[in-house]
Amino acid sequence: MAETKSVKKKESSKLPTPFEVSMMQVEKAAKMLKVPSDILNFLKVPQRILRLEFPVIMDSGKIQMFKGYRVQHNNVCGPFKGGIRYHPLVGMEEVKALASWMTWKCAVAELPFGGGKGGVVCDPKAMSIKELERMTRRFTKELANNIGPDVDIPAPDVNTNPQVMAWIQDTYNTHHYNNQTGVVTGKPVEIGGSLGRNEATGRGGFFVINHAILKGHLKGISQIKGTSFAVQGFGNVGSNFAKIAFDEGAKIIAISQVEGGIYNPEGLDPHKVEKHIAKTGTILNYKDAKNIDNTALLATKCDVLVAAALENAIRGRIAKRIKASVVLELANGPTTPKSDAILKERGITVIPDILANAGGVTVSYFEWVQNLNHDSWTEKEVNEKLYFRMTKAYDGVFVNAKKYKTDLRTGAFIMAIDRVVKTLTLKGFYP
Ligand code: NAD
Repeated sequence: MAETKSVKKKESSKLPTPFEVSMMQVEKAAKMLKVPSDILNFLKVPQRILRLEFPVIMDSGKIQMFKGYRVQHNNVCGPFKGGIRYHPLVGMEEVKALASWMTWKCAVAELPFGGGKGGVVCDPKAMSIKELERMTRRFTKELANNIGPDVDIPAPDVNTNPQVMAWIQDTYNTHHYNNQTGVVTGKPVEIGGSLGRNEATGRGGFFVINHAILKGHLKGISQIKGTSFAVQGFGNVGSNFAKIAFDEGAKIIAISQVEGGIYNPEGLDPHKVEKHIAKTGTILNYKDAKNIDNTALLATKCDVLVAAALENAIRGRIAKRIKASVVLELANGPTTPKSDAILKERGITVIPDILANAGGVTVSYFEWVQNLNHDSWTEKEVNEKLYFRMTKAYDGVFVNAKKYKTDLRTGAFIMAIDRVVKTLTLKGFYP
């Protein structure tokens, strides 16, 4: 009996999986919207799951088996769309959650896409470039009949980049004897990528927070100039956000990577920090700053904490120690539901991931439109269109949050689910 109790206690103290979190978020918003339960049952689960085991010849000449996933969550609003992640800890539950968030993110941004996501369990940092290429090409061959410009369109995510997208595009076209540029987005500009895509997630996040500030929605913050930011994660998303915000007058006082962070209350220049990382291979020991650990970064006294690393970064006791008045979620799923509730109780505004980081998939959509029309737009055109979409999405989320007397996250899910349910109702179910 005592043992059962302690097992139960242990289980209840376990974090919910990212997919369980995504289901809770959907259920909460669907309840407020009064979505019928039979429709909700369809929206919660992925439509299709591919689990692949495939061989790759390593530089040593030995064959190594790799595990890969592609989850196609929902295509009611258009082809499945979502990134591919390379990471040693990629798992099915995580990919299912990320695919589901893509469905809702695309709906918030009013894009004609559904949601998908993929991943390969690997440690790209321990692989040579040739091994990465062979692994990507073999993974793509296994996926080739299940992706395509009108079916499912991958893009970069953690540890994948434009070069990886170029290999996917080439392998897909070789497999199909075709020349489709729109099979992936986030590819190099030379082979059909869009100007502005690389910076788009960070830029979109900047447009959202700046718009919220200008609308007077963020207590105690009246302009971007001088507003202090702590940025967790200095990869594609975090570094571009930090550089764009810095160039607009924001004060970036702390930045971290997986190995730790740096802090200077007078402000850091993220352009120089980037050069320091390129030169030394780490963010630590930057001349004008003090080294801090990853927990200290989250607890930095600042106006805005930017979560731009991975899921569940804000969990456990840390939610009680956050001193920022706003959390901007540029990563997917960085806040656990328990921490979300604590932040709400403490009056900290959370600008949710499915709104804040939608800039990446929005410019991916622009890239796809350019590809389908054999066209290319200027960076100015891309950024203006991005600004229009991100600020419109923010306004929609804000209105829904007010209408349903709820937080921005639930407002965003309400807006997204409402759109998908309306589309689904018009299309009906094939008998
Ligand atoms: P990336 O691989 O380029 O960068 C990830 C960064 O996070 C690295 O700097 C890494 O050192 C850091 N990091 C990892 N664990 C950390 C920890 N515990 N503490 C501090 N830093 C840590 O990945 P990215 O493309 O920038 O993606 C970051 C997040 O944004 C992910 O959640 C991703 O799903 C999401 N996202 C990315 C895009 C995109 O366009 N790349 C779009 C939408 C959402």
